[in-house]
Amino acid sequence: MPKVTVDKDKCNGDGICVSVCPVSVFEMQNEKAMVVNEDACILCHACDAQCPTQAITVEE
Ligand code: SF4
Repeated sequence: MPKVTVDKDKCNGDGICVSVCPVSVFEMQNEKAMVVNEDACILCHACDAQCPTQAITVEE
């Protein structure tokens, strides 16, 4: 099962992960990215590759 985490202290709230994730794993809540649909993750690594603050970790 994929494990997707967002480091709240690093997240700058730009929402890039929400835009790039093809399966809507993330949602913005109170100007931070929240993982709301982890089971859908297809391990494409678009989110962690494009997050400018390296706030996202994706593990298999
Ligand atoms: S690795 Fe891909 S599918 Fe998984 S959360 Fe990141 S963008 Fe979405």
